[in-house]
Amino acid sequence: LDAKDADYLISLMRAIPDFPKEGILFRDIMPVFADARGMAILMDALVSNLSIPNDDFDAIAGLEARGFLFGPILAERLGKGFIAVRKAGKLPPPTAKQSYALEYGEATIEIERNAIREGERILIVDDLIATGGSAGAARDLVISCGGVVTGFSFIVELAGLDGIQSLGGYPASSLLTMP
Ligand code: AMP
Repeated sequence: LDAKDADYLISLMRAIPDFPKEGILFRDIMPVFADARGMAILMDALVSNLSIPNDDFDAIAGLEARGFLFGPILAERLGKGFIAVRKAGKLPPPTAKQSYALEYGEATIEIERNAIREGERILIVDDLIATGGSAGAARDLVISCGGVVTGFSFIVELAGLDGIQSLGGYPASSLLTMP
């Protein structure tokens, strides 16, 4: 991602203070997908900035909801399948579940139990990593289904939260680091 393309993507993203809660600066990536040039730049950059070689994973797992916007496009471009990591209660049984702590309370994510084969190598993707709690829960869920997590890919990494470090030393990439 060269400086001109990075600036273009940043110019499309909106920063919304105090959404969805006071004190959160929400980074809205939806306008990138609404813009044909923005989406082309984004997808090319994701393809060329993967943290691991294309031969080192078999499928992409994307987190609901914004990981669903680009995860399948990326998977198709790389000749891989796509696995949906959903919020609890949306997928038909049999599923595997993983709960994780939020700032207040707990969240649960789910995957279709048969979506991952034993030993299948998985690249996990989401739009943004903040604390790393969601991506870490997805990692644990994939592992509990017999998968092998080989890397992570994000569009945005929030600075100063050590989200990528919290994942445990896996290869991980982000296109943009933002405050
Ligand atoms: P975390 O689990 O703390 O790494 O948070 C990452 C998840 O929450 C991702 O699915 C993001 O889409 C969402 N998220 C967290 N913080 C923000 C933010 N400042 N702007 C937009 N989305 C966010």
